[in-house]
Amino acid sequence: MSPLQRTIYGRDHEAFRESVREYLDRQVRPHIDEHIAAHGWPRDLWVEAGKQGFLGLEIPEEYGGSAAGDYRFNAVLGEELAKVSVAMASCFGIHYDIVAPYLVDLTTEAQKQRWLPGFCSGEIVTAIGMTEPSGGSDLAALKTTAVRDGDDWVLNGSKTFITNGYSADLVVVAARTSPDKLAKGITLFGVEAGMAGFTRGQPLDKVGQTESDTAELFFDQVRIPAANVIGEVDRGFVSMMERLPQERLGTAVTNISNAGQILAETIAYVKERKAFGQAVGTFQHNKFLIADLATRIDVSQAYVDQCVLAHNEKQLTAVDAAKAKWWTAQVQNDVLDHCVQLYGGYGYMNEYRVARAWRDARVTKIWAGTNEIMKELIGRDLGL
Ligand SMILES: Cc1cc2nc3c(=O)[nH]c(=O)nc-3n(C[C@H](O)[C@H](O)[C@H](O)COP(=O)(O)OP(=O)(O)OC[C@H]3O[C@@H](n4cnc5c(N)ncnc54)[C@H](O)[C@@H]3O)c2cc1C
Repeated sequence: MSPLQRTIYGRDHEAFRESVREYLDRQVRPHIDEHIAAHGWPRDLWVEAGKQGFLGLEIPEEYGGSAAGDYRFNAVLGEELAKVSVAMASCFGIHYDIVAPYLVDLTTEAQKQRWLPGFCSGEIVTAIGMTEPSGGSDLAALKTTAVRDGDDWVLNGSKTFITNGYSADLVVVAARTSPDKLAKGITLFGVEAGMAGFTRGQPLDKVGQTESDTAELFFDQVRIPAANVIGEVDRGFVSMMERLPQERLGTAVTNISNAGQILAETIAYVKERKAFGQAVGTFQHNKFLIADLATRIDVSQAYVDQCVLAHNEKQLTAVDAAKAKWWTAQVQNDVLDHCVQLYGGYGYMNEYRVARAWRDARVTKIWAGTNEIMKELIGRDLGL
């Protein structure tokens, strides 16, 4: 899909891409139907990803990571995962791309030693719990509380739609610690599997991404030791805001890669599929449509690549990331909808990847901040 040569990747990135592809071809592609049936990823997939060095890209070497110090490796990994399964890109991305910065930047030495080696090896799978049943867009209004009791904190409340929620060993949970201070009264806690009072619902029944585990989490008088506070008390909201641009960039990377892959598969299909004695892709309407979609992807890719480079230079703003996130989600959804149409009736059959991809993609306009919230951020930046 790329008439213009992309210039952001060098030889090391492409060698890394090959190792990711090899892992996906060997461990994931042949078993995708089993993962869909199982509503999740078996732990050995995580452990194998750990062995390959995919999970510790941001983690310092002394804790088992590679401290790549180059977001392009995260981007390559996200691109390749999203070509196979958006759900996999999401579940694994939550871990290596979204939770990693919290556990590297905000943790104490003791926490690093406890959590990071397992994080890198795949023995500790992580999740992040921000959204609550009462709302996700207005994060500052979250209702889960943590009240100090001696050296501990007592956590009460619930989270919903949490990716990896059912299987995670460690969840970074945002809770209110100062009732009167709204955004300035939120703290992050490391909630670990097995803590008394921490329970989860069954994986949620979603429209798409059946192979990802998305769950509700419940906290009933969960006693959290002070040693599990992540970052400063009452500074959790700022910590989340500082890290959301990377989360949104990561989704932009996977959105556009997934759309490009499915469009490429669709082009192959419409070259073969015949109607009225000719390949359906050669009807002028379809040819122009596909030209339009390919252009949208390439132009969007150029913006996303610029954002990746800017992020490497610590120059990516929250507004740039918001633009990349909503735009690519829209492009992805538009492209996939047209791809379904181009497949005709087969495009509506679950047996066909295009049908599943179309359902899987719907959520990219919702998660990690909805398209409306992205536009709100952009509009505010424009002084509106
Ligand atoms: C599959 C999946 C995985 C997810 N994974 C995670 C996860 O791992 N961790 C996590 O914490 N969360 C996760 N989420 C939650 C996700 O981030 C939220 O669903 C999202 O932020 C929206 O919050 P909400 O669902 O409460 O919608 P609401 O906040 O209730 O919004 C409802 C509608 O109102 C609109 N709206 C709200 N405010 C405004 C406004 N100011 N202006 C205009 N429109 C507005 C929204 O855009 C939306 O259309 C996941 C969600 C899904 C579906």
